[in-house]
Amino acid sequence: MDNKETKGAGNPNQPTQPNQPNQKPNGKRRFNLYWIYAILFAVLIGVNFFGRGSVTPQEDIDQGKLLEMLQKEEIAKIELINKEDAEIFLNQKGLSHYFPDVKAGSEGTTTTPNYTYKIGSLDRFEELVETAQEGIAKPVYINNVRRSNWMSDILAWVIPFGLLLVFYIILMRGMGRNMGGGGGAGSIFNIGKSRAQLYDKDSNNVNVTFKDVAGLEEAKVEIMEVVDFLKNPEKYTKLGGKIPKGVLLVGPPGTGKTLLAKSVAGEANVPFFSLSGSDFVEMFVGVGASRVRDLFNNAKSKAPCIIFIDEIDAIGRARGKNALTGGNDERESTLNQLLTEMDGFGTNSGVIVLAATNRADILDKALLRAGRFDRQIYVELPDIVGRKEIFEVHMRGLKLGPDVDKDFLAKQTPGFSGADIANVCNEAALMAARKGKKEIDKQDFLDAVDRIIGGLEKKNKIITAEEKKVIAFHEAGHATTSWLLQYAHPLVKVTIVPRGKSLGAAWYLPEERQITTKEQMYHEMIATLGGRAAEQVVFGQISTGALSDLEKVTKQAFAMVTYYGLDEEIGNISYYDSTGQQDYSLTKPYSEKTAETIDREVSRLVEKAYQEALAILTDHRDGLTQLANKLIEKEVIFGEDLENIFGKRPWGHAEDEKLKDAAEKASENEPQETNA
Ligand code: ADP
Ligand code: ZN
Repeated sequence: MDNKETKGAGNPNQPTQPNQPNQKPNGKRRFNLYWIYAILFAVLIGVNFFGRGSVTPQEDIDQGKLLEMLQKEEIAKIELINKEDAEIFLNQKGLSHYFPDVKAGSEGTTTTPNYTYKIGSLDRFEELVETAQEGIAKPVYINNVRRSNWMSDILAWVIPFGLLLVFYIILMRGMGRNMGGGGGAGSIFNIGKSRAQLYDKDSNNVNVTFKDVAGLEEAKVEIMEVVDFLKNPEKYTKLGGKIPKGVLLVGPPGTGKTLLAKSVAGEANVPFFSLSGSDFVEMFVGVGASRVRDLFNNAKSKAPCIIFIDEIDAIGRARGKNALTGGNDERESTLNQLLTEMDGFGTNSGVIVLAATNRADILDKALLRAGRFDRQIYVELPDIVGRKEIFEVHMRGLKLGPDVDKDFLAKQTPGFSGADIANVCNEAALMAARKGKKEIDKQDFLDAVDRIIGGLEKKNKIITAEEKKVIAFHEAGHATTSWLLQYAHPLVKVTIVPRGKSLGAAWYLPEERQITTKEQMYHEMIATLGGRAAEQVVFGQISTGALSDLEKVTKQAFAMVTYYGLDEEIGNISYYDSTGQQDYSLTKPYSEKTAETIDREVSRLVEKAYQEALAILTDHRDGLTQLANKLIEKEVIFGEDLENIFGKRPWGHAEDEKLKDAAEKASENEPQETNA
C-alpha cells in the first residue's frame, strides 16, 4: 500500500494547525535580527554622511587658478593626498582675497583645505608648482600625505560578509520552509531548537482517546499501563518499582502507532510532543544533538508528558554499520545524545518517550537496552474483526446508505492498514459527492477499495483479446495449482482487470501457521509457477508476464536452501544473520564451492517445482480451460467458481468457513496479493 497517499487523506483527527510552543520566542528572535540589520545600516549611512561632511566642503579649481594663487603667494601649504588629490590651504592673504569672511587659525590657515586640485601626473604637478614659483623667496612645497580611506576599506570588508550573511539567511529560510518546520524554525538562531509539535490542553487538540482507536486490543492493554504510570506514578514508585522511560511501538506504516501514542496523551490528559526522527537530522553538524537536548528540556518543563518520536529508525539505526562508506557521524551523535538524555532523567520525572518504527530489527541495540526502550508493543495490520471496527470508527461521521455492510467491506479489504481504511471511507464519500448522491452506498465503497488497491482502474487501458486470453490462463494456472495442492494457500479471488501497472491479481487465504514445513513452501512455489506453466501447457510458449512470480519463487528457493536448512545437499546450515549488523556485508560467509552448490540446488528446486506445475495443469487441462474462459467472461472469479469446477478441497478450510472463524481468532494471517 502506498502509505504516503493514504496517510494524508486518512487523518481526519489530526489537527492541521497544531499549536507551536516555539512560535512566540521565534517571533521575538526574528524581530531582534531585524534590529541588527537596522543598526548596521544606520551605522553605515552615518559614517558615510559624517565622514564626507568633514572632508569635502571645498571646490575644485583648475590649473590657471592654481598658478595664479601660487604666483601671488596666496597659498600656505599644499598637501598631496595619496598622490592623487592636492589640497590647497590659503594663507591670510589668500583668505582675505577669496574668503573675506573667514579668519585663519593659529597656524595661519583654516583647519580644512580651501580648495582641492586634481593632479594629472605627479611629475607634471611637481614641475608645475616649482616653475610657477620661480623667483619667489618663500616657495610652498608639496607635502605628501598618506590618508587611508577607511570608509572604503570597511566597505570592502563589510559588503562581502553582508552578502554572505544575506545569502545564508535566504538559504536557511528556504530550508525551513521546505522541511515544513513551523514558524521561524528555519532562521539561524533556531536551528538547534527542536521541531517538536506540542499538543496540550490549551491548544485543545489532544482529543484523541482510546475510543478513536479501533482494534489493537492487546496493544491497548499494554499501553493502558503507560497511561496509569502517568496518572498515578506513586502507585508504582511507592513499591520501589521503576516506571519505564521508553516504549517502542513496532508495526507497519498506517497501523495507528501515532494514533495510539496520541490517545495515551488524550487518556492521561498530559501534553504530547510529536516529531519525526528525520526532524533531528540536518545538514549541519551538531544540530541533531542540540535538538534532542532542547526537546528534553522542553519536555521536562512540561512533565508529566509524552514525547512521541515517529520513524525513530531515521536516527536509531545501528551504528557502525556503514564502515565502508564512512558512516554518518551526525546521525550517531544525535543517537548518542538521545541515549544520554534517556539515561539522564529519573524514572519518576514523568516524561515517557514513545517511539514508532516499522523496523525494530535495524535499530541500534543500545536503544533497546534496559532503561531506554525496553518495552516493545507490536501494532500489527488489523485482522478482519479489527478492520470492521476501524470501518465503524471512520464511518461515524458519514451519511451511509442502507446497503453498506461493514462485515462485507472488512472481507473485501484484506491487508489494508487502518490508514488505508480511513482513506477508503474518505474516498467513498468523495465519490458519492461527485456523483451527486445523498448517501454513500455500497458501490462507492467498493470503487474506493478498488481505487486504493491498484491506483485508478484503467478502463481504457488497451489489451488485445489475445493478451487477455494469455493473462486469463496465467491467472487460472495460479488458481488451479493452488486449489489442487494440499499445502498451497487456497484462492479467494482472481481478477484480470488491469490495475495500475499489473495486469491481473490473485488473493489467497493463507493457513494460520507459525512455522512452515518444507512441503508447504514447495507447494507454494508450484502455485507461484502455475501461471507460467499454464502458458506453456496451453500456448506452448511463455511470456514476460511472469517476472514477479519468478522473482518470488527464486527468493523462496534461495531462502529454503541458505536460510532454513531445508535442502539435503546443504544440510542444516543457515547463512541468515539475524543481527543484521555484520560490518562487512560484502563477503559471503561460505566458500566458492558452497556457492556453486547453492546455485545448483536453487535452480534444481525451481525446476522441480515447475515440472510439477506442468504435470498438474496437463492433468487438469479441462478445468483450467473452463476457469480461464470464466475469467475472460466475468473478469473476476471467486473461490466458489473453483469449487464448482474442481469440487471442494478435501483438506483444510474453505475460505467461507475460514472467514466465519476469523471472528473468533485474534491473529489472522492476511491473504496475500500476487500480481500478474
Ligand atoms: P502510523 O503512525 O502507524 O503510520 P497513524 O497512526 O498515523 O499510523 O495512522 C494514520 C491514520 O490511519 C490515523 O490518523 C487514523 O485515521 C487511521 N487509523 C490507523 N489505525 C487505526 C485504528 N486502529 N483505528 C482507527 N483509525 C486508524
Ligand atoms: Zn503470475
